[in-house]
Amino acid sequence: MKPTSDTPINIVGAGLAGALLAVLLARRGFAVRLFERRPDPRRSVAERGRSINLALAARGIAALEHAGVMDQVRPLLIPMRGRMVHDRAGTTALLPYGQRSEEVIYSVGRALLNRVLIEEAARYSTVSVRFDQACIGVDPDRNTLRFRDLGPPEAGSAPRAAEYDVPLGPTIATDGAGSAVRSSLAASGHLSVQEEFLDHDYKELTLPAISGRPALEVNALHIWPRGGFMLIALPNTDNSFTATLFLARHGTNSFDSDVVALFEREFPDTLPLIPNLVTELRDHPQGSLGTVHSAPFHVGNKVLLLGDAAHAIVPFHGQGMNAAFEDCTVLGSLLDQNTDWGVLFAQFSCRRRPNTEAIAHMALENYTEMRDTVLDPKFARQKTIALELERHFPRRFIPRYSMVMFHPEIPYTEALRRGGIQAEILDQLDSHRAADGKLDLPTAGRLITERLPEFD
Ligand code: FAD
Repeated sequence: MKPTSDTPINIVGAGLAGALLAVLLARRGFAVRLFERRPDPRRSVAERGRSINLALAARGIAALEHAGVMDQVRPLLIPMRGRMVHDRAGTTALLPYGQRSEEVIYSVGRALLNRVLIEEAARYSTVSVRFDQACIGVDPDRNTLRFRDLGPPEAGSAPRAAEYDVPLGPTIATDGAGSAVRSSLAASGHLSVQEEFLDHDYKELTLPAISGRPALEVNALHIWPRGGFMLIALPNTDNSFTATLFLARHGTNSFDSDVVALFEREFPDTLPLIPNLVTELRDHPQGSLGTVHSAPFHVGNKVLLLGDAAHAIVPFHGQGMNAAFEDCTVLGSLLDQNTDWGVLFAQFSCRRRPNTEAIAHMALENYTEMRDTVLDPKFARQKTIALELERHFPRRFIPRYSMVMFHPEIPYTEALRRGGIQAEILDQLDSHRAADGKLDLPTAGRLITERLPEFD
C-alpha cells in the first residue's frame, strides 16, 4: 500500500491531534474518514472533566503553522510570560520563562481549539467527519475496525445498527490516553503497552472574572506550590481562570481528606476567588494522571498510534498536546517522502519513540519542580545563572525548559541529554560563586566549551 491520495485514511478520534492531522492530510490531497465518539462540538456543549485550558508552546505552534491554521487559532491565545508563584503568606513573585520577548507560552481553551481544528478539517470536501461513533476494537488479521454508533436515531427512520465494521485501510489512532485502539491491539498481542499511573489526581475549579475583570494577573501561569501538592491557574479569554488542584488520592493531604479545610490552611488567598469551591469540589470529576509507553507505535502498514494514544504523559511540562502536534508535523514530513505506509509507520515509530520517552521523563521531573523545587532559593538562583549563561554562550547553552518550550528544532532527546550536562555545570558554578555572588565566567566558559558542543 503506497501513501497515495486514492486510499482513504481512517483517523479514530477527532480530538486535538486527530483534527489537526485531518487538516494536514487533506492539504496533501488525501481522503480522510474521521471518526469521533463525542457529538459534534459545533452543535453541543463541550463535555466536562478534561482540562479546560492548555499551555501551547513553540512545538505546537510550529505544527499549527505547518497546517496553515495559525490565523484561526491566534485569537484564542493568551500569552503567559512566566510562573507567578504564590506563597502561603499570599506574596507573589514572577519567574519569567525566558529572556526574549517571544519566549512566552500561551493559554488556550481546549474546546475552542478543538472546534477550530474540526471546522478547518470539515472545510475539505475530501474529509468526512462522523460524530457519535465509538471505536470498540481493531482486528488487523481480519482487516477491520469495529465501531458502535452512539447517535440518537433520526426522526422517522429505523434505529441505527448498534455495531458495524469498517475496512482497516491505513488507520491512524488518535483516540487519546485511554485509546480503545491501543487496548485492543495490546490485548491481541500486536503491541506491548505499559501504563503507569501517578498516585496524584487532579480536579478543576473556576476563578470567575470579578465585575468583568480578571481575578489575577492575566499574562502568567499561577502556581501555589506546597511541597507534596499544588494548585495552578491558567487564564481564559472571558477573563476567568481555570485552576487545577493536583493532590494525592489517599493520605493526610489528599482527595480523601477534608479538601475545603486544606484550602483554608494552604491556599487562603484563593478562597475569595473561587466562590463555588464547595460545590465544584463535590461535583467536578476527579481525573487521573499517568504515562503510557507503547512499543512500537504501529502494526505493519495497517495501524499507527499517534498523540496520547501512543504516548500519554503527565501534564507538568505542558507538552502533551505540543508533542501530539509535533507528531503530526513529523508524520507530514515523512509523507512528503512518499514511502510505503509500512515503512512510513515504522520510521515514525523509530523517530518518535525516543523523543516521547524523553518528554515523558522530563514531565515527571517537572512535577517535583513545580510543586516543590520552585520554593527552594537554589532553584531561583540556578534559573538566574542559566539565563546569564545563555546570554554569554547562546550557541552552546540554552536552559532545558527553554529547549523544550521555545526550540522545536531541538529534539526532546537532545534537551534531556544536554539538560543533564547543564545541571551538573550549574551545580558546579553555583557552589563556586565568588563572595560577591558574581558568576565565575572563565570557569563557566571552560566547562561549557568542553562539555557542550555548539548547536547546529
Ligand atoms: P485527545 O485530545 O484526548 O483526543 C482524543 C479524541 O479521541 C477525543 O476527541 C475523544 O473523544 C476521542 N475518542 C476517545 N476514544 C474514542 C473511541 N473509542 N472512538 C472514537 N473516538 C474516541 N498538554 C499540553 O501541551 N499543555 C498543557 O498545558 C496540558 N495540560 C494538561 C492538563 C491536564 C489536566 C491534562 C489531563 C492534560 C494536559 N495536557 C496538556 C495534555 C493534552 O491534553 C493531551 O496531550 C492532548 O489532548 C493529546 O491530544 P490527542 O488528540 O492525542 O488526545
